[in-house]
Amino acid sequence: MRYISTRGSAPALDFADAMLTGLARDGGLYVPESWPRFSADEIAALAGLDYAEVAYRVTRPFIGAALDAGTYRAMVEQTYRVFTHGAVAPLVELAPNHWLMELFHGPTLAFKDYAMQLLGNLFNHILGARGRRVTIIGATSGDTGSAAIEACRGREAIDIFILFPHGRVSDVQRRQMTTVDDSNVHAIAIDGTFDDCQALLKDMFNDPNFRDEVAMSGVNSINWARILGQIVYYFVAAAALGCWERKIAFAVPTGNFGNIYAGYAAREMGLPISHLVLATNANDILSNLLATGTMTQGPVHASLSPSMDIQVASNFERYLFDLLDRDGAAVAQAMTAFQDGELALSQDALGAARDVFAGFRMDDAGTLEEIGRRYEASGQLLDPHSAIGVAAGAAKRGDGTVPMVSLATAHPAKFPDAVEQATGIRPPLPAHMADLMERTERFDVLANDLAAVQGFVRDRLAEKEVA
Ligand SMILES: *Cc1c(COP(=O)(O)O)cnc(C)c1O
Repeated sequence: MRYISTRGSAPALDFADAMLTGLARDGGLYVPESWPRFSADEIAALAGLDYAEVAYRVTRPFIGAALDAGTYRAMVEQTYRVFTHGAVAPLVELAPNHWLMELFHGPTLAFKDYAMQLLGNLFNHILGARGRRVTIIGATSGDTGSAAIEACRGREAIDIFILFPHGRVSDVQRRQMTTVDDSNVHAIAIDGTFDDCQALLKDMFNDPNFRDEVAMSGVNSINWARILGQIVYYFVAAAALGCWERKIAFAVPTGNFGNIYAGYAAREMGLPISHLVLATNANDILSNLLATGTMTQGPVHASLSPSMDIQVASNFERYLFDLLDRDGAAVAQAMTAFQDGELALSQDALGAARDVFAGFRMDDAGTLEEIGRRYEASGQLLDPHSAIGVAAGAAKRGDGTVPMVSLATAHPAKFPDAVEQATGIRPPLPAHMADLMERTERFDVLANDLAAVQGFVRDRLAEKEVA
């Protein structure tokens, strides 16, 4: 399997190089050259298998020669053993034929763990085999950072630097990043928004000297391997609900378009997905695009669902690549237009997008109401992101005979203030992190300034060399 850039002018790479490279050298994102297809029989055969086995079968075609089959199978099995629920991603029925898929049973309690744990193991193996080390730099709106740190902490061949927006992540989210004491972990609070953090990250990737000097790599969802790990649970849900010939729908709390793009990939791979509900909070640039056909960057609004407080959704570019018939030059042009003010889809492109995606938006007041309503109806505690996904799934059911699966992207204990405000119940952290609020924090605050961040990374790496 080869990977090509969405902007058409970076070299095609194999899986291992695409993973280590992160952002393509032409500023684009890597995508597979073609989608492997699964027949209805192959999907049916996944029913009853455990999560790791489904993960192995679904992801194997993308790995190519990067790992031999036996090594990769063992890695996948080891990856999902650290999850705390036997089913890894259990389904709970909320209402007739409306399901919740709980994607919060990993080490940091958000769906990011499902791909990040696999990515950490893949990095470790491939770096070891090549005798190389990397500096991973990432930006987070809250959950990616802790999931990445958890996947990379203590790994010899990796230093990890995570930029998060100062004061704009929850206390639990921040502490999950700042209380890890491994010396290869560096948490950085940036005076700015998540979009600022992501822009700094892209600027570092687009600075070839810096990139080569520190052997920079990334684990944000611009990294193809992140998407790969997220495709799995769409197949797991479909197999569990008997959907290989009949349709299934998903509602996905969306920020950077990474999770829902994995759903689109599953659909391209043959999963009979009728539609994907794109659920946003007040940062509704993507649901707005589906309504109007144009995308204009506005200010970021802070909300109760901070992991979705994003205006510039990186992974949308991957979908745009397909929407524009895989024409890299057209994608580059569209992305420049977006940076300059507005990206406009043609009527054909908008029609094609609406065939797959349905937009949904919910503000904070609606989110609190939804959390309260679900708790009263069934005793189910939802975190604010998941609540938006549940409301979206209910609102955009379409054909009621088609199972709707709302993805629960975080554990309620990750956002206890909002949950308590809505229900009066303060959800406790699971036992393995019960003392999180007492642990010592360690992080640096930096200005929203490229040179300052690059200088900090260089200094930290130099200190380690001396030590
Ligand atoms: C990251 C995150 C999202 C948004 O996912 P994207 O892949 O960025 O669209 C939604 N909910 C939670 C809890 C998250 O951590």
